[in-house]
Amino acid sequence: MFKKILIANRGEIALRIQRACREMGIKAVVVYSEADREAKYVKLADEAVCIGPAASALSYLNMPAIISTAEVTDAEAIHPGYGFLSENADFAERVEKSGFTFIGPTPESIRLMGDKVSAKQAMIKSGVPCVPGSEGELPEDPKEIIRIARSVGYPVIIKAAGGGGGRGMRVVHTEAALIHAVQTTRAEAGAAFSNPAVYMEKFLERPRHIEIQVLADQHKNAVWLGERDCSMQRRHQKIIEEAPAPGLPRRLIERIGERCSAACKKIGYRGAGTFEFLYEDGEFFFIEMNTRVQVEHPVTEMVTGIDIVQMQIKVAAGERLPFTQKGITVRGHAIECRINAEDPYKFTPSPGRITLWHPPGGPGVRVDSHIYTNYAVPPNYDSMVGKIICHGDTRDQALARMRTALSETLVEGIHTNIALHRELMADAKFIEGGTSIHYLEGWLGQRAR
Ligand code: ADP
Repeated sequence: MFKKILIANRGEIALRIQRACREMGIKAVVVYSEADREAKYVKLADEAVCIGPAASALSYLNMPAIISTAEVTDAEAIHPGYGFLSENADFAERVEKSGFTFIGPTPESIRLMGDKVSAKQAMIKSGVPCVPGSEGELPEDPKEIIRIARSVGYPVIIKAAGGGGGRGMRVVHTEAALIHAVQTTRAEAGAAFSNPAVYMEKFLERPRHIEIQVLADQHKNAVWLGERDCSMQRRHQKIIEEAPAPGLPRRLIERIGERCSAACKKIGYRGAGTFEFLYEDGEFFFIEMNTRVQVEHPVTEMVTGIDIVQMQIKVAAGERLPFTQKGITVRGHAIECRINAEDPYKFTPSPGRITLWHPPGGPGVRVDSHIYTNYAVPPNYDSMVGKIICHGDTRDQALARMRTALSETLVEGIHTNIALHRELMADAKFIEGGTSIHYLEGWLGQRAR
């Protein structure tokens, strides 16, 4: 096992990875930007090295600075967390070429899955069902694009092959709007992801977002750890996640889960990963694979009792998965609320000094957050400042615990979306379960009136 790991990330996930290291007796080195000097995980780390100014491009995305920090601190492996360099195949390659272990899949797997067009093609080959759409990248010829859209059927969604984080997507309802939408998405994708390739999918009108968590080792073993429902989204960004997905036929989920672990074996995947699907009318459609730990991994940890971050570290070190599929059981239900530093009504970011932080507690309550009273949330990064995760024997119990937890939580000095979560936990449709990915935006539209 590694003796020392460098964490190339910030915020709650930097703390989460550090906790996993500590439990395993591994020393943790953190890198941080000038804006994160006061962060909790920086103070708690065994070693902390400032690698640049606040701007991510000069710090958390600064590959030479991160790799040379690993060199000077004698770290053996680098954990990229999520976001930043976590799905950057060039980074993974540079890490390995410099003699360190990248805690994640091979650069080849990251590259294959990072391009959504090649990812879909690989999934089709592995027998994983995908959203109907263009076969690969859209051609230049407008006539040909129009023909493809007609055969797919409107509405369609134009998506960037290199897209991520809910960006680089455009829904098209009519032929008249098609070519302009393709051109705009191409231009945006070229600027944002340095890859102008776009593809087309049928736009599903009321799907749920269901994803399968997988774990694979370097000895051809792969398992799936159940599913998560992440349908509560605003602007394609998840805000509430839960496991298992309410009301889904178990047999169907099992069949899809098996396909995902089989696909991992087929592509030689290692580490943790997530297969994301849209689910509509009893059918699953693959949309993309995330080749890293996800924000919502705790709900799976709560229901399976498996520490996903520790597993990432173990399989990166060459260990075998300590369980087979039969050994994995899902117990009870877990719900996660993402706490964002933002206005709960207008969603404008709300960075600044936290004058009071009182986290919730009690049975089945987990808080993953790096904030503390008197901590200043920097304006430079994502607005998520923590996650509250509640587990219960049943979904109703998990919901009740979440309501209690949210009622106890106090954050003063900045605005957060806790008020929004409180409202949603009392919403009849959410309580019923099984809402579509468009539900939250419709609900917000109603609330605004
Ligand atoms: P990203 O990598 O940016 O997260 P995804 O391909 O995972 O992009 O899509 C993000 C979200 O966009 C999905 O969870 C869903 O809400 C919406 N979406 C993507 N593809 C479709 C589609 N074909 N039909 C309807 N909604 C879609």
